[in-house]
Formats: sequence, C-alpha cells, structure tokens
Amino acid sequence: MQLAPIPFNKPFLAGQELEYIRQALTNGKLSGNGYFTQQSQQFLQSRYGFVHALLTTSGTAALEMAALLLDIQPGDEVIMPSFTFTSTANAFVLRGAKIVFVDSLPNHPNLNTARLAELITPRTRAIVPVHYAGVACDMEPIMQLAQQHSLWVIEDAAQAIESTYRGRPLGAIGHLSALSFHETKNIISGEGGLLAVNDPYFAARAEIIWEKGTNRAAFFRGEVARYQWVDVGSSFLPSELIAAYLWGQLQRVEQIQQRRFAQWYQYYDALQELEQRGYCALPHIPDYAQHNAHIFYLRCRSQQERDGLIGHLSKQQILAVSHYQPLHASPYYASQHDGRTLPHATDHADCLIRLPLYYELDAPSQQRVIDAVTSFYTGASIRQ
Ligand SMILES: *Cc1c(COP(=O)(O)O)cnc(C)c1O
Repeated sequence: MQLAPIPFNKPFLAGQELEYIRQALTNGKLSGNGYFTQQSQQFLQSRYGFVHALLTTSGTAALEMAALLLDIQPGDEVIMPSFTFTSTANAFVLRGAKIVFVDSLPNHPNLNTARLAELITPRTRAIVPVHYAGVACDMEPIMQLAQQHSLWVIEDAAQAIESTYRGRPLGAIGHLSALSFHETKNIISGEGGLLAVNDPYFAARAEIIWEKGTNRAAFFRGEVARYQWVDVGSSFLPSELIAAYLWGQLQRVEQIQQRRFAQWYQYYDALQELEQRGYCALPHIPDYAQHNAHIFYLRCRSQQERDGLIGHLSKQQILAVSHYQPLHASPYYASQHDGRTLPHATDHADCLIRLPLYYELDAPSQQRVIDAVTSFYTGASIRQ
C-alpha cells in the first residue's frame, strides 16, 4: 500500500480569510494601515496587553525595527541564545552590533538565565530572549538584570503567540517584542509579523520608522497638517491583503489553539512511555510557563539516533525535521564568535527532532506518526 505523505507543516484557512481578502479588494485600499491592519492591531493589543502594536511584513522586520528603535551602533553588544533563527541575530548585525551568544539550558533550548550576568560588559545594550516552541524564558530574572544594568529587553516571541509567563502574555513583558505570522507559526498570514511596543518611550518613533521615516500615521489621524520626512525608517508595514488574511485567522485563534493543544497532548500522552523507558525526552515545560502547542519535539540521545529516526520516518512518508544549527558555529558568524563553547546549544541542534503538527493534521495521520516513532524505538511491527 502506498502511504500518503505527511508533511511537517501545511498552511491552512481557518475561516473568513478569503472573504476578508475580497472585502479588502472591494474597499479599494490595498496598501498598508487600512481597516484590516487596524482591526488586527487592536485585537492583538487588547488581547495581550501591548501598549502599542504595529503589523509588520515579517517577524524579521519587527526585529529590525527593534534594532533601529534602540539606535544600535557599531560595536554595541547584544546578548541572545545561539540556538535561534538567523533573524534574531541579523536584525542587530545589520546595525553593526556584536552578538554575544549565551548557552541553552541543558533540558530546554531556551537561554540559561544564570549565564547572562557574566556576559554583560559596558558595551552591552540589550538582551534578546527567544521563547523556543512558545515556551517562556524565565523573564523575571532577565528583566531584573536588565534594570540593574540599564539594558533593553527585546522578546523574540515569534513562536509564542498565546503563551504566558506566570500568567502574563509573552511579547508583553520586554520593552519591545517581535511576533511572527509566517506560515509555519500557529497563526499565519504567509509572511507577516508584529512589533509589540510595551515601553511608551518607543511608541511615537516606532510608528514613524514603520512608515518610511514619515509622520504619515499621525497625518491620517488628523494630528498634523501634512506628512513629512522626520526620521530614518523603511517600509515595514504589510499590505491590506495580508492583514485581511491575518484578521480571518485571529478571529479563530481559540479554535486553532484548541486543535493544536489536542494534537500536542496526543503526542505527549502517546510517547510518554518512550521517555519513561529512557529512549528519548519529551518537551520540558517549566512551572512558570504555559505553552501554546507551537512545536512538538523529541530530544534523542545522540545525533546518530536522531538522524536514524528522521530516516525511519521518512521511509514511511513522514517528514520530521531537526531545527536550528547554533549561530555561534555558523559559517557566517563562527569567526566573529568569542570562542566559548556552548555545549547545550550544540546538543539541542544535534538531538532535537520536530514531529508534524499543523491545523489540518488528522487523527489517523497523527497515529501513523506515533506508531512510526514507537516502532523505531521498540521494533514493534508497523500498523498497516
Ligand atoms: C519565525 C521566527 C523568526 C522570523 O520570523 P519571520 O516572520 O519568518 O521573519 C524569528 N525568530 C524566531 C525564533 C522564529 O521562530
């Protein structure tokens, strides 16, 4: 029997996305900051308690806006985990910053808070915690340390919509935060993102940088007579077509999350025995974190075992994938890294495998994944 391939991820429609795109066309406004942009921004702002929210063309763009808002200068240092996506670092490297990488926790890819203080120098400007798999970093000590040393905290909450830290929404804790609506995230618009501004100090300037360095947003609100070039900036805002798609998804956020949680816990319950038998580790969720079912991953005992599992699943038409290669050892940055070994970041890169998890993953397909993982470890016969 030829098995249907199970992809790792699949973009999806949750409700009214196509209808809203049609409305955007009918409204006769396709550029940014129209009705659907406003709706989405207001929704996100009030649901998560951001002081200000600006839709962006990507999570990457939101991080780049954050680096501009911080006025990062060549030689400034920014601390972030090595186990993250290139955009976390690129946003600051583009402004000339030196990236100082901190290792992951042994049992979780998130940064090890206890190793931050030793990395702070007079040139340090910011700490960028990344909430891997939508699981919160330990934010309280990070915010305290930042306050002691007058540093900014930029949350890379690209994966963390709907997650909380001690009950507080992620993205609402740092001075600035980036969310992503890339098609691989929980809530999608193809490409897309959000800059959350939580420190009012940045609010006015964020809007100007967003709109090509002009005060056009204030002009639209009737606050200034004409709009002018008042600062640096770029085109960071998405078109209304993107915002319309996003609005369709945001309205269904609870339905989407409910489904992802069901899938996530299905994996967790079904694979728990493998962890109990010491084969592989399931995701660790600290007490302070409520996650968002963004990623279901396993940590294998070695790279060889992980690659073997990927191969075993692939033979059964199941696409499971590793994740980040540590940035401190990347072809681009290794020569600029200060040479410290970051063993836990390397370990997660070698041993982590992500299983298919997406809105339209049906129960029989998920069972196939569970059976295939189980048979890899136990040699049990594969269900036909
Ligand atoms: C997805 C992601 C980004 C980038 O977001 P885009 O919208 O794809 O630009 C940045 N950081 C992390 C941790 C991500 O997962």
